[in-house]
Amino acid sequence: MEGTMLLRALSFPASSSTLASSRLFFRHAHRLARLPKRQRLLANLQQRSLLSRRFQFASSVARPSIEMKRCYCTPSVRAIATSSAQPAPEVLGVEDEVAEKLGFEKVSEEFIDECKSRAVLYKHKKTGAEVISVSNDDENKVFGIVFRTPPKDSTGIPHILEHSVLCGSRKYPLKEPFVELLKGSLHTFLNAFTYPDRTCYPVASTNAKDFYNLVDVYLDAVFFPKCVEDVKTFQQEGWHYELDDPSEDITYKGVVFNEMKGVYSQPDSILGRVSQQALCPDNTYGVDSGGDPQDIPKLTFEEFKEFHLKYYHPSNARIWFYGDDDPAERLRLLSDYLDKFEENSAPEESKVGCQKLFSEPVRVVEKYPASEGGDLKKKHMVCLNWLLSEEPLDLETELALSFLDHLMLGTPASPLRKILLESGLGDAVVGGGIEDELIQPQFSVGLKGVSETDINNVEDLIITTLKQLAEEGFHSDAVEASMNTIEFSLRENNTGSFPRGLALMLRSMGKWIYDMDPFEPLKYQEPLKALKARIAEEGSKAVFAPLIEKFILKNPHRVTIEMQPDPEKAARDEAAEKEILDKVKSGMTKEDLAELARATHELKLKQETPDPPEALKCVPSLSLEDIPKRPIHVPTEVGDINGIKVLQHDLFTNDVLYAEVVFNMSSLKKELLPLVPLFCQSLLEMGTKDLDFVQLNQLIGRKTGGISVYPFTSSVRGKEDPCSRLIVRGKAMSERTEDLFSLINRILQDVQLTDQRRFKQFVSQSKARMENRLRGSGHGIAAARMDAKLNVAGWVSEQMGGVSYLEFLQDLEERLEDDWSGISSSLEEIRKSLIAKTDCLINLTADAKNLNNAEKYVSKFLDMLPNPSLAGSTSWSGRLPPINEAIVVPTQVNYVGKAANLFDVGYQLKGSAYVISKYLSNTWLWDRVRVSGGAYGGFCDFDTHSGVFSYLSYRDPNLLKTLDVYDGSSNFLRELEMDDDALTKAIIGTIGDVDSYQLPDAKGYSSLLRYLLGVTEEERQLRREEILSTRLNDFKEFADVLEAVKNKGVAVAVASPDDVTAANKTRPDFFKVKKAL
Ligand SMILES: [Zn+2]
Repeated sequence: MEGTMLLRALSFPASSSTLASSRLFFRHAHRLARLPKRQRLLANLQQRSLLSRRFQFASSVARPSIEMKRCYCTPSVRAIATSSAQPAPEVLGVEDEVAEKLGFEKVSEEFIDECKSRAVLYKHKKTGAEVISVSNDDENKVFGIVFRTPPKDSTGIPHILEHSVLCGSRKYPLKEPFVELLKGSLHTFLNAFTYPDRTCYPVASTNAKDFYNLVDVYLDAVFFPKCVEDVKTFQQEGWHYELDDPSEDITYKGVVFNEMKGVYSQPDSILGRVSQQALCPDNTYGVDSGGDPQDIPKLTFEEFKEFHLKYYHPSNARIWFYGDDDPAERLRLLSDYLDKFEENSAPEESKVGCQKLFSEPVRVVEKYPASEGGDLKKKHMVCLNWLLSEEPLDLETELALSFLDHLMLGTPASPLRKILLESGLGDAVVGGGIEDELIQPQFSVGLKGVSETDINNVEDLIITTLKQLAEEGFHSDAVEASMNTIEFSLRENNTGSFPRGLALMLRSMGKWIYDMDPFEPLKYQEPLKALKARIAEEGSKAVFAPLIEKFILKNPHRVTIEMQPDPEKAARDEAAEKEILDKVKSGMTKEDLAELARATHELKLKQETPDPPEALKCVPSLSLEDIPKRPIHVPTEVGDINGIKVLQHDLFTNDVLYAEVVFNMSSLKKELLPLVPLFCQSLLEMGTKDLDFVQLNQLIGRKTGGISVYPFTSSVRGKEDPCSRLIVRGKAMSERTEDLFSLINRILQDVQLTDQRRFKQFVSQSKARMENRLRGSGHGIAAARMDAKLNVAGWVSEQMGGVSYLEFLQDLEERLEDDWSGISSSLEEIRKSLIAKTDCLINLTADAKNLNNAEKYVSKFLDMLPNPSLAGSTSWSGRLPPINEAIVVPTQVNYVGKAANLFDVGYQLKGSAYVISKYLSNTWLWDRVRVSGGAYGGFCDFDTHSGVFSYLSYRDPNLLKTLDVYDGSSNFLRELEMDDDALTKAIIGTIGDVDSYQLPDAKGYSSLLRYLLGVTEEERQLRREEILSTRLNDFKEFADVLEAVKNKGVAVAVASPDDVTAANKTRPDFFKVKKAL
């Protein structure tokens, strides 16, 4: 499955506004305990960064295209480094014998050159469980167990089960061992995903002892969970009736119930789900594995238990191990679990059938909740979807289709994307292009922000463009650019914060889960070579035109989805739900109601009672002795070239050079700040005098691994003025260093900022993206808004990525026609005040030889930069008024925040603050906001640069109640009792965050940000020591500090109109109401 692997979409939710990511959300991201925080990071790319983990995500605002949307997953760079480091033969022999003794039969074995790994496929003889054991020298070890779990209805069984099995098991009888692992392990990855047809439980760690602890907890959880014996977990994670007092109304509660309400409030998610269901009405994809909020309450505990008994069974399991640990140990651990089972019939029953192709196209119209009174004219969405074949495709075809996908849609210059956006028919492209993660591949593309009268025009335009591409083919420069981009990504193998072993597992699973060869998807070299040869011999048209003809144009299995905005839908859904609940209540006797109130109370009590210390001890943990005493070292040499500071990081990067060019933004006029993101996009997506933007984009694709430009802003501790920079990030193979810097120079200096038509598209796209973010990542918006009230850096960021930015865009759209020359000259003014040699900084990451090689090109680049006399820095000193605000949006769930600046009340930063805020997130806030409150997430975040401490909730059914929970944090800490074990776990978990695994480019980038923010090595060491020596007393002292948030904090909620009205009734004028959509 070259195709699958090459172009598998593994992006995180909210990272792009395409349909692909919204589908991934309900496909992948169901558990994501840490997701809210990460999402926030992603949502605020142009905002400042806190801890190291954040740094890896920084990417272009202007180019959410290929790098962000997709991860090309390939083998470990480290592994490549050591070339053919095959395990010694004697190790092999012993291992085979051990495997046999432990009850495993070796099915096949291969050395996979692409990842320099030995991969063995075993079958567990007694149960038929399949195991792949991959050995190489990657220290980031990965384990995953995957079950085929095709649902028959939309009650969300697989999803609720995925949540529930992690709530206590035979060996680990706690409320949530998962949370204990989050708190106290060094995991580099810990999560679970529900797909439409499978459920996946992966963990990763670089520490072997920690790794096996994680594996054991996960194995015990999936095979022996408590949730099948105790209905309370099902009620908590799935659904239950809640009634505090018989005089009140009954409501539905449940973590998944609420999570899915959030998903069903988002137009992009609705479109993804409707598309999938309409494309495959006859197999398991015709229902929603995540759960439809209307169907979830139909699920019974009996059905839930049966599903587990049948499908969470070794016979139905596929297990993956990867990394540099001892392969025999893996099998030893497994056999303990697998031996306890007999073979069952699940493999037959869980087979996923194919959808038969339609004989003619289908059309579906669906409504989505929109705000009342808003302009609904240009709010329609239309998306065309094709199911490409009746059977899974062969590797070569899938690879060619993925390539075609990149050619048509991969970059802003790709013809289908470009034509759709330039048509002016809509604001942003939807649909994920080619998707091949499920049994049959599909293709989707469409537009949102379309007016009703243009729906047919969009359809016609898509079809005409595809026809034209089939007839005329692609420009050879475009083909070369796509080829280089794909090859570069494969070679670089940059999976970001996602472990490489996990990316490989998901790729392999795409075929393995359907009983096909699991190794095939890992081997891309041969098919890629063959495809290249074919293109060279026959020309690209001969390769791609028949694909477009056969799979798309002549394929009758086409589904057109039209989505209409419906301002009454949210209210209607709510009324329908209330009607059902009223009926339930009226059917109950007085005794029933008293019983329900008692049960509600009992469930709450159970949720709020902490696990006893003895129980907590059963979750294995490392000891402080296992923790390195020093922070992770990143080699950094600060030198200068032509009088300009240059930071160099000598790290092995497989011959890729990573470069950042950093400019100071602090002399920019305040009123120009909101234009900066659009300025960045203009640099990359407008043309120069001699190249139009398509040619420029192709040139970047042909010569480099990508270039992005974005603003970065953060507070600097102890200073009023923020650090505000414009960062240009680029990467290329080392032999292309000259091209890389010459292209960066052209972008910065030669691009003509005069293309009104393209600029108009940027504005529409940005507006669409911000609106999407407001509904899907409201916690990020709330956080930015609070920050803007509490410090200057926050204010600057909010101007470029918050509600203020959205308002700016709305206004800009209005004046674009009349005042283009003014806007264009403002863009030019930004360029003049930012792009200067003065105060510029260069950051380079590569090995010594390649760093050396880069110096002469850097020098040449610097010589070409303008060197104007300094305008001097202006002081922005902006802040929003510190009042409570509710941003009203059409949604069924809320995002609730409260924050204050702790430095303003005299708090001096100590490392213990990291431990305490993490602990607070994983205990008090998790228990009260998520477990008993029913929100999908609740956490706190401490920005150690600005001093802003914020509480945030995610997809929350409550509003004021959540604020009360926040206010209870101080008391919780004050009364906290904690034994040494619990404290040690909290410390280790914090170190796990601080030391989070980073690929070399991320290491170099983190080091740059530390440099910019004045974080020294001495300070890192000091903080680490403070973290390691955190005592219970620190928690109590911090309780007093947090009183400031309770008493002086400012609250911002992104919430539904009804909930805000209700809140303002309970506490008169608590929120100032602001309508944003
Ligand atoms: Zn979930």
